[in-house]
Amino acid sequence: AKSGIRNVAVLEKDYLSSGSTGRCGGGIRQQWSERMNVRLAMRSVDHFKRFESEVGFDIEYFQGGYLLLAYTEEEVSLFEKNTKMQQEEGLDVVLLSREETAKIFPFINLTNVKATAYCPSDGHANPHLTTFAYARAAQRMGVEILTHTSAERILTESGRIIGVQTNKGQIGAEVIVNAAGGYSHEVGRMAGIDLPTESYKHQISG
Ligand SMILES: Cc1cc2nc3c(=O)[nH]c(=O)nc-3n(C[C@H](O)[C@H](O)[C@H](O)COP(=O)(O)OP(=O)(O)OC[C@H]3O[C@@H](n4cnc5c(N)ncnc54)[C@H](O)[C@@H]3O)c2cc1C
Repeated sequence: AKSGIRNVAVLEKDYLSSGSTGRCGGGIRQQWSERMNVRLAMRSVDHFKRFESEVGFDIEYFQGGYLLLAYTEEEVSLFEKNTKMQQEEGLDVVLLSREETAKIFPFINLTNVKATAYCPSDGHANPHLTTFAYARAAQRMGVEILTHTSAERILTESGRIIGVQTNKGQIGAEVIVNAAGGYSHEVGRMAGIDLPTESYKHQISG
């Protein structure tokens, strides 16, 4: 919609923020072991820094930093490799000894910690506020957000997409964006595409 495309509709089979986004930790970190992930995350951080002025909503974005702890020599080697690559990408990450960490973070229990990786520009935001901010900003630009509306079939004619069958009727469309997250494989199959994505149940403890 921002680039001038008209007649955009977003179908959400449930309610806004009902998928992974509404259940996630909201962490926005750039410390990854894959160079491409680091680049993507750094670009995201640039975006999040401008979010309030560009999108017009406070999403509780805060750059409080991420401190990763290495407990084994293998983890220390990995941290050395990762922080070197991340610094090459221009990330403000540092590898700290236990003593250096204790000086900056005197209240952390560093028992058995051998080294840490600290990136002060990592942070977090509120996932619900972020989803609703995008939705409201999109609506202001004329986008229709249709909740409780599931894509059930992608309609084609002579090999071209002509629309989507939903639980509430048909919608004509020449272009369909598959943004179904963990369901992207199922939605891809509606168009005869076998996406190499799989969903797994997993748990995070803290
Ligand atoms: C427990 C947990 C913690 C996480 N913590 C973090 C974190 O701290 N930081 C981080 O960056 N990432 C985190 N993630 C990953 C992050 O949540 C996901 O990568 C991200 O939310 C994916 O967004 P999405 O829009 O692609 O998918 P979703 O948010 O899942 O959105 C897809 C939407 O598509 C809808 N949908 C599916 N099929 C259809 C259909 N046929 N018709 C209509 N609608 C449909 C779903 O209902 C859903 O709402 C975490 C994930 C989990 C599960």
